[in-house]
Amino acid sequence: MKIFIGGAWPYANNSLHVGHLAALLPGDIIARYYRKKGDEVIYVSGTDSHGTPITMRAKKEGISPEEIATYYHNEFADCFNKLDFSYDLYTRTCEEFHKKGVQEFLKQIMANGYIYSQTEKQDYCPNCQEFLSDREIEGTCPYCGGIAKGDQCEQCLTTLNAKELLDKHCKACGHSTILKDNTHLVFALSKFQNEIQQLVDSSTDKWRLHAIGESIKYLNNGLIDRVITRQLPWGVDTPFEGFEDKKIYVWVEAVLGYLTAGKKVAEERGIDFSEFMKNSDDLLTYYTHGKDNIPFHTIIFPALLLALKENIKLPDYIISSEYVNINDEKISKSKGNGVIVKDLISEYDSDTIRYYMIANGPERKDINFSYEDLEQNHDKHLVGEYGNFVNRNLAYLIKKFDGIVPTGEMDSKISDIIDKIYILVGKNIEKGNLRNAIGQIFELVQIANKYYDEKQPWILVKENIEEFNNVTYTCINLIANIANMLEPFIPKSTNKVFNMIGVNETSWKQIVVPQNIKLKDVEILFTRINEKKVKTR
Ligand SMILES: [Zn+2]
Ligand SMILES: [Zn+2]
Repeated sequence: MKIFIGGAWPYANNSLHVGHLAALLPGDIIARYYRKKGDEVIYVSGTDSHGTPITMRAKKEGISPEEIATYYHNEFADCFNKLDFSYDLYTRTCEEFHKKGVQEFLKQIMANGYIYSQTEKQDYCPNCQEFLSDREIEGTCPYCGGIAKGDQCEQCLTTLNAKELLDKHCKACGHSTILKDNTHLVFALSKFQNEIQQLVDSSTDKWRLHAIGESIKYLNNGLIDRVITRQLPWGVDTPFEGFEDKKIYVWVEAVLGYLTAGKKVAEERGIDFSEFMKNSDDLLTYYTHGKDNIPFHTIIFPALLLALKENIKLPDYIISSEYVNINDEKISKSKGNGVIVKDLISEYDSDTIRYYMIANGPERKDINFSYEDLEQNHDKHLVGEYGNFVNRNLAYLIKKFDGIVPTGEMDSKISDIIDKIYILVGKNIEKGNLRNAIGQIFELVQIANKYYDEKQPWILVKENIEEFNNVTYTCINLIANIANMLEPFIPKSTNKVFNMIGVNETSWKQIVVPQNIKLKDVEILFTRINEKKVKTR
C-alpha cells in the first residue's frame, strides 16, 4: 500500500498550544504504524508562513513578517522534533519550491477554466489608505450577533464572507470602512458542488462525524465561488499578468502545500509523485487537523484537486479533532489560558505527553486538559501498569539470573491473544480511532500483569523451574510485543525496551523473542511524577 498523510500547517503567528498538538499527533501515529507494516508512507506538514495575522502582527511590532514566520517556524520544528514527530518533511510555505509549485498549480487550474477575474467593490480604509483583507476587518456576525472577523465568527464559528458582516470597521485604526473597486481572481468553487457532495456521501464511514456534519452544512448552503487573491506585501506572488501587486490567499496555497511538500519527498526518494497520488485502491490518504480547519480539507482542497484534472486521489480519511479546553474553558488568545507545547516539553517526557494526548484525545468531543490529569495518567498507566510489568520481570532476571532469560515455551493462549490484539489495534489505527487502539494495548498490559500475578513466578522458581522458565519467557514475549504495538504511540520507551531485551523487530506482527538472550542496560522505564517532584523540592 501507499499512504499519504498531511498534517495541518500551523500559523506562524503564535506558539503551538495543546489544541494543535491534539490535532496533529494522530498523523504521526498513523505514519509510524504504516511504516511498521512495511507500507510506503509520505507524511508531510509545515509552517504556514503567510496570511494576514502574521502581516498584522509584524506591522504592530515593527518587524518584517519573515522574522516572525522564521521565529515561530523554528519553534514549531523544535517542538515536533522533541515530541518525536516522524514527518518525512516539515517545511514552510515561504520556501521557493512551495511558491513555484503553487504557481504551477494555479496556472493549470486557470488553463482548465476554473479561475476568472472579477472587479468588485472591496472594503477600503480611507484612514490607512489600504484595501483590507477579511481579517483586517471587524464587525458584527449576521447569524449570532457576536463579534466576528471578516472570514469567521469567533462566537458561532460560521465561516463568513466579509460582505455579510454588519457595522464594519478597520481593525487597525477603528475607522469605518468604505467600498472601492478592485480586480481579483476568483476560484469557481460552485462548479464542484456535485462532485464534493458525492465525496462527502461516500465518506460517511471514514470521516469523523463532525467533518461530515460541517461539510453537509456548506453543501446545503450551496458552494460559492471564492476570491483567491489578496492585497498583501507578503505571500505567494500571483503568477498572472495584471495581478503583480497581489498575493495568493493562504487558504489556497497552504492546502496545496500537501502537494508541494509531498512532491519534494517523492523527488528525494526518486519516485513519481503524481503517479503516487493517482486515484487508486493502492493509495490511502489521511488529513489530520482541528475542527476549525474542516471545510478547507473537505471542500476547498478536494475542489482544488478536482480543478487540477490530474486524477489525484481525494481525501480518504479526515481525522479532524475537537477542541482541547483548559479548566473547562475554550483556549483563547485574549484569556491567555492556552497550554503552550514548548512549556509542556520542558517539564514532561515526550512519551508522557503523547500518551496523555492520545489516550484522552478529542476524537468525538471536546476534552479538558489539566496538569493534574496528565500526571495521574502517567503515574497510573505508564508507571503503574506498563512500566511495572516491564520492571518486575526484568529487574528479577537481573537480580536472580544475571540478566539471562531462561529457555522456555511461549504460552499458546497468550500468543493467540497477542495476535488478536495486533489485528484489533491495527484496524483502529487505520480508521483513526486512536483512543480505542491505545486502550486495547493497555488491556493487553492488564492481561500481562494478571498473568504474572496468577502464575506467581517468584514461587514457581522454587517449586517448578520448568514452569518458571515458560512463564518468564512468555512474559518477555509480552513485553516485546506490547512495546512493539506501543511504538507508534510512545516510541521513546519502546526503543528503551527493545534495547534492554535486544530486539529490533519492526513489523506489525507478533515478535518471537530469541531463546537465551541476555538483558542489558536495564533501567526503570517510567518514574512516578509525583515522587520525582517530592524529591526535587
Ligand atoms: Zn484603518
Ligand atoms: Zn456568529
